[in-house]
Amino acid sequence: MLAPGGTVGVLGGGQLGRMLALAAARLGLKTHVYAPEPENCAYDVATARTIAPYTDETALRLFAASADVVTYEFENVPAETVDILAALGARVAPGAKALAVAQDRVVEKEFARSIGAATAPFFAVDDLASLEEGLKRIGRPAILKTRRLGYDGKGQTMIAAQATDLGVTWEQANHKAWEEIGARPSILEGFVDFACEISVIAARGRDGAVALYDPPENRHGGGILRASMVPARVAAETAGRARDIAERMLHALDYVGVIGVEFFVLRDGSVLVNEFAPRVHNSGHWTLDACAVSQFEQHIRAIAGWPLGDPVRHSDAIMENLIGEEILRWSDLAATRGWCLHVYGKGEARSGRKMGHVTRLEPRRPDGAQGR
Ligand code: AMP
Repeated sequence: MLAPGGTVGVLGGGQLGRMLALAAARLGLKTHVYAPEPENCAYDVATARTIAPYTDETALRLFAASADVVTYEFENVPAETVDILAALGARVAPGAKALAVAQDRVVEKEFARSIGAATAPFFAVDDLASLEEGLKRIGRPAILKTRRLGYDGKGQTMIAAQATDLGVTWEQANHKAWEEIGARPSILEGFVDFACEISVIAARGRDGAVALYDPPENRHGGGILRASMVPARVAAETAGRARDIAERMLHALDYVGVIGVEFFVLRDGSVLVNEFAPRVHNSGHWTLDACAVSQFEQHIRAIAGWPLGDPVRHSDAIMENLIGEEILRWSDLAATRGWCLHVYGKGEARSGRKMGHVTRLEPRRPDGAQGR
């Protein structure tokens, strides 16, 4: 168990790294943030920083020597970086398996199915011929996504129900979709006409103990999370199914830390796994204000070998992301009672950039009174 005064190394310096560093500080732990960008909002609150490429062996050696445990705040850390750190004897959590599975959408869906969870129909696409084959099997509408390095709706394109939607032939529509995602190894997914989206934020400790938060209901716009609310407007059985799947995933991956698993809820109350993130998750930001132990503290507790905290929720909550210029409303938001404002301290309020979030709290209603 890492005692206060110890150091957590964090790969990645965005807002998730920042909130992890703040949570670590609350427990008396220091943080060392490692990222390639010269400017990053996590640097402002970390004990130490290293600005270097992810594959710089010399910098990684010094980083590994300074940290008692290493974690990451984004899933696209090169596998090579984790290999180098492991060879240096660093304790990296979550482990290489979770990272490898989460980095490839095809492997991720196969993994979900291997633990008995359902997913949208999918087909691995390597070229135009396999795209056509996939469309024959799955049908239209469908979504074409890059297998790797996609996030926040980037690296994906919709394939319409009928080519005439676009006023072009099917061949032209396929070609356009293939070009749009950069003609890279991809996954074709059937379009799911879901009732809503939920996610499960869950943690597994070094001793195998699991803590599960209540699933929030998530609303996306342009592929970016806009808002999360708890409780989700789903039946208790639906929430239970999603929580069970998240728990099975944690054990199957021999996971240590917090995971965020995203689900589509169908009209019959069944759930499909969309994807998972091997890290703290945007749809769990409400836990900062609505729970005694947030997802960030939970992650630090798990990787540091501490007992997990109680994930119980004391309030109902709606979390809204402040994207781009929405952050300019900060002084009005700060003045509103019951609204908890979080500003990430990033520079320019560029469009599409997550600049902060606000969580509105309400007294928790009795379970079952979920009529929002
Ligand atoms: P992803 O990057 O896979 O999380 O996708 C971002 C968002 O796009 C999801 O949260 C959904 O709102 C939507 N989406 C992704 N895949 C599908 C699908 N197969 N069917 C319907 N909507 C989808």
